[in-house]
Amino acid sequence: MAPASNSMAISVEALHQLVQRLARPIAFASRDGGAHLSSVKNLGSFVSHQVVQALADQVFLPHIETELLALRDLFADFDRQSGALEQQQRLTRAKTLLDRLSEIRMPQALQSNGRQASPSRAAMVVWNVPIQFVRGVGSKRAVLLERLGIRTVEDALWYLPWRYEDRSVVTPIARLSPGADSTICGTILAFTVKRTARRGLAIVQVRINDDTGTLPVVYFNQPYLERILTPGTRIMMSGRVTAGRGGWTDLQMESPQYEIIGEEDDTVLHVGRIVPIYHETKGLTSRQIRIIIKGLLDEFLPSIEDLVPAPMQRKYGLPSIHAAFAEVHFPPAGIDVAALHRGTTQAHRRLAFEECLLLELALAMSRQSVKEESGIRFQVDTPLIDELRKRLPFQLTAAQERVFSEIRSDMAIARPMNRLVQGDVGCGKTIVALHAMLVACGSGYQAALMAPTEILAEQHYLSLRGLIHDLGLTSVLLKSGGPATAKTAVLDKIQTGEAQIVVGTHALIQKKVQFKQLGLVVVDEQHKFGVVQRKTLVEKASHPDVLVLTATPIPRTLAMTVYGDLDVSVIDRLPPGRRPIQTWLFTASQRRRAYQIIHDELAAGHQSYIVYPLVEESEKVDLKAAIQAAEGLQATEFAEYRVGLLHGRMKTDEKARTMGAFKAGEIQMLIATTVIEVGVDVPNATVMLIEHADRFGMAQLHQLRGRVGRGTQASYCLLVTTGDGGREVWDKGVKGRDGERGIRGNGVGDKAVKEGLRGTASAAATSSSMGRKTPHPLFEPLCLCGAATAGGVGADGRWI
Ligand code: ADP
Ligand code: MG
Repeated sequence: MAPASNSMAISVEALHQLVQRLARPIAFASRDGGAHLSSVKNLGSFVSHQVVQALADQVFLPHIETELLALRDLFADFDRQSGALEQQQRLTRAKTLLDRLSEIRMPQALQSNGRQASPSRAAMVVWNVPIQFVRGVGSKRAVLLERLGIRTVEDALWYLPWRYEDRSVVTPIARLSPGADSTICGTILAFTVKRTARRGLAIVQVRINDDTGTLPVVYFNQPYLERILTPGTRIMMSGRVTAGRGGWTDLQMESPQYEIIGEEDDTVLHVGRIVPIYHETKGLTSRQIRIIIKGLLDEFLPSIEDLVPAPMQRKYGLPSIHAAFAEVHFPPAGIDVAALHRGTTQAHRRLAFEECLLLELALAMSRQSVKEESGIRFQVDTPLIDELRKRLPFQLTAAQERVFSEIRSDMAIARPMNRLVQGDVGCGKTIVALHAMLVACGSGYQAALMAPTEILAEQHYLSLRGLIHDLGLTSVLLKSGGPATAKTAVLDKIQTGEAQIVVGTHALIQKKVQFKQLGLVVVDEQHKFGVVQRKTLVEKASHPDVLVLTATPIPRTLAMTVYGDLDVSVIDRLPPGRRPIQTWLFTASQRRRAYQIIHDELAAGHQSYIVYPLVEESEKVDLKAAIQAAEGLQATEFAEYRVGLLHGRMKTDEKARTMGAFKAGEIQMLIATTVIEVGVDVPNATVMLIEHADRFGMAQLHQLRGRVGRGTQASYCLLVTTGDGGREVWDKGVKGRDGERGIRGNGVGDKAVKEGLRGTASAAATSSSMGRKTPHPLFEPLCLCGAATAGGVGADGRWI
């Protein structure tokens, strides 16, 4: 790949030229103790402009880029600095920087001839180009893209369409029919703008003509189109055909997507093909993202290195990474659109394969490095375990026993434990973790239990304190608030080792928390913590054992394993006497059936939740929806019961009052936003309806669902989906199977669902491996579909 190393040579060359250009004026300005400073005008804007220009023109290795950005920072507001001293100091720093930059030579590997050079570094550089420097982006759009998780060229190419629209079939105007989404191709005959009398809105009317007829097209309030849609222009338009009073003889299109067809333009983007639809953000439309991605593919795709070796590609019949990216963003004509939507095209498979491969490799490497560290060899046969069991009011389930024995064998050996315990809410993870903590204490070490919220930390502390105390051990709760003296006392106990078990939130990772001898770290509900936080706690001791507890189902947790090489143990049975929660999926139009189930439960004296999502962007709207729903349901559907409302904007004591009333059974139905996610325990609540279920992540759905099924009654979780998400779920997972009836939780045998789950696993896995936080947008609806149909399946009560 000679071109790659050539581009590297060019960038080093360009760097040296830049340094030369800047060195002279900077040297001059700083000479003679700054005597010439006042005679050099606009030095700051000159330097920063030069640097920015260079960054925009060239791709530099990341460390060079960092230096250049630092240089720019020195000069960005240089001209506005009033203090000569400050200016001088900056000039001195700039000279040092320039000296360093002038020393930079081409990397050894790239200096020799093209054949020996390693292309991968140059390819990596291309991959990491900040999106801001890409043509058509710039700093303003970079901010918007960042909101979508796109920072580099790599991120952008992996930002896959979440659905596609087939605009490839062109319909002659004479054959259009009302109600259909159609694409036409013709010439603009006329363009007029009218203003409405009252509000002065601009109504744009365009007439399009093809060989078969003429069609009026209307746009509202876009007068600027006059400059674009000029008569005589060849154009394609895609949109919904509507009929006016004259029916079939009076057709038009309103606000269609359009694409001007130039003379030589053979790459039509927005119509006349299968068009990718991307998730948008405020200020950036799918159409704009499409243009950016197209530009990226044209500019960068050829220099991207294929990580999957050719023999492996052949073996599995996979397309190249170049073909895969090109096709997944701009599918070729004639491809199966349903397969695109399912994410099962060759291109999608190739991308999933790559992600899985990288995940596996990362895991293998991480495993290798952990083996080399040496950890603590605990005395696992501590009498504390027997003592604990004598005091427990129940016996561990077989699943709990199995998981504890896995933990024990980890703790017995010198390799540090890194284990994830996964199990549905209520399966008894805490007590298993307590076993592990006792093993640590039995060997003279301290154990820390870290919970995601204060409420949860306090709950753990209160429920464990008695047991721990009876065993002759001391536990403390570390809170972030509260009186300083109490806190100092707690910190003291941790430092002296008097406290063997420490419970807290992320307060545990603060610098001032010093352990005497921390041997085991338990992290509850991992998905709430960043990896960094976990790492910080772990670094408070030399290679402590780590246990992570999570209710998030395996596909997602699998993804987490890449960070810390977590081995996984699963508690796959609930304690005896619990009944599995039946999970059903409803479309919005089937809401009545869902309400019927709630009615039945309430009539039997049970209680229910209805949960509304609160998503950042539309928080106010959603809050309003929850409040309106509470009022509406109280007034009509559930008038004979008391309906309460709980949301995050309420004052703490208000919340407590409402919760208290619900606990006491004075309120039968609680409409809530996600504030009930953790820490609510009302065994009489047997049914939960989740509105807009498609807007929740898997982990959240699990947490929410865990609020029911806490007693011995049969319990239900009813997922209602609306909008596209719902339709997707419906289409993909269940329609064919159980059409009219609403979804029973028996779809696991369904092929589509299985495929969905598989897709989820790989997509979720991978999004982390590539440093992305959210699951793959394409697979998100599939996540849900898997969850909804596989959950509550059957006798054994397993979620997946
Ligand atoms: P989670 O896995 O969600 O953290 P918990 O550890 O909070 O679940 O356990 C839920 C409840 O089940 C607790 O009240 C706990 O005491 C109880 N529990 C745990 N294990 C068993 C068991 N083997 N038999 C009966 N009850 C159990
Ligand atoms: Mg728990």
